[in-house]
Amino acid sequence: MSTLKVAELLREAAARLPGEDARHEAEQLLIHVLGVERAWLFAHATDVVDADSRERFEVLLARRAEGHPLAYLTGRRGFWTLDLQVNTATLIPRPETELLVEQALARLPADEMLRVADMGTGSGAIALSIASERPLATVMATDVLGPALAVAVKNAQAHGLENVWFRRGHWYAALGADRFDMIVSNPPYIAAGDPHLVQGDLRFEPPPALASGADGLDAIREIVAGAHEHLVPGGWLLMEHGWDQGPAIRALLEQAGFVEAQTVQDLEQRDRVTLG
Ligand code: GLN
Repeated sequence: MSTLKVAELLREAAARLPGEDARHEAEQLLIHVLGVERAWLFAHATDVVDADSRERFEVLLARRAEGHPLAYLTGRRGFWTLDLQVNTATLIPRPETELLVEQALARLPADEMLRVADMGTGSGAIALSIASERPLATVMATDVLGPALAVAVKNAQAHGLENVWFRRGHWYAALGADRFDMIVSNPPYIAAGDPHLVQGDLRFEPPPALASGADGLDAIREIVAGAHEHLVPGGWLLMEHGWDQGPAIRALLEQAGFVEAQTVQDLEQRDRVTLG
């Protein structure tokens, strides 16, 4: 391997990655390998990168070129105001999911000691965002997958959040007999067999976090059906879902006796969160 300086290595790497974000992604991978801040790359643009780091960088670059998601290669992803650890046991938190956090916070007065449950927390993205914005609230984060829950626990510790509790289990089984002022979830909602599951980032993400039955609504049906037993009177249920599932989910909420069922659209004007 020839010796390359930081600036040259980045230029070469960016040229090997597809997409508009190639330069940014090359930087993120090098920052990860060298364990430095972004500013370091510019202050040390003419430093030669040592052989060991160079080799590790090459491995990550090759994986990224094969399509492995950047977040899994660096093990990090920003969500809301938090820098979160992620791994292949967890879904990669998406910017769309911030809409769910926004809608939840709008219904959680900051001066009340409310109880919130985030079912299927994965990396903890939703639960930890709410917990950080509402220090008086208690957030119960659940996941059926132990390795995912372990990531969420680490993220809570890394951010010093002491108002989050964790339980492992399937949807309401994890909540036991407890009742909450609000239940939120970004459940799996893709139809089994949807071709998107084998494309892009999704093919690297945990299948149980993505697909849910023939129409993608199995998990949501279960969540809606059990909500009344786990919400206080007047409590809220908020769920993220696919762009074409809003009407079906509002109908489910109405059948279950919810009032004020409504769907909120994301920045791309697509149905994304339904609540009641
Ligand atoms: N709650 C997590 C998130 O929003 C995980 C969701 C999931 O795995 N379906 O990122």
